[in-house]
Amino acid sequence: MKNRWFFPDFYENSIYDINIENIINLSITTIILDIDDTLVEPHIKHADEKLIQWIKKIQNLKINIIAVSNNTKKRVNDFTSFLNISSIHTALKPSKIRIWRKIKKIEKEPKKIIIIGDQLFTDIFVGKRMKIKTILVKSLTKPKTIRKKIIRKIEEFLLKNWKQNNISNITYT
Ligand SMILES: [Mg+2]
Repeated sequence: MKNRWFFPDFYENSIYDINIENIINLSITTIILDIDDTLVEPHIKHADEKLIQWIKKIQNLKINIIAVSNNTKKRVNDFTSFLNISSIHTALKPSKIRIWRKIKKIEKEPKKIIIIGDQLFTDIFVGKRMKIKTILVKSLTKPKTIRKKIIRKIEEFLLKNWKQNNISNITYT
């Protein structure tokens, strides 16, 4: 299968559909979380109670959470200021350099790390390059710019194609 670089290990409608048991079974110690359109809509400044509880639930399992966003320092700091999680702003995904620099202090083994994000060409691609597990979730908002609309069309095409080919190691909901 071509385009393995963009092919997520799992696909879920939202972060709340992710089976935490599976993450425990994969011996994951560290979760990399995209922020915009994965955790909250981009215009939402802070996490709501549901998201705070979801993050706490994961932290109670002794799993590290690190928010990794291509967005600005202000956006990322504002968002994480009320959450007890570390973060990387201006991450330059799909480049893995800035992410590895920080994450290797937490977990060095790629197989114990998973990334959750809504974009194939940034979140999933960087996950593949890092050789870590990947979960794609449905983007929370519709793309607004022409460029993002085109990217979304390509993503939808690839996902449909994979689904039709009945790829076995991807779970669809
Ligand atoms: Mg995103």
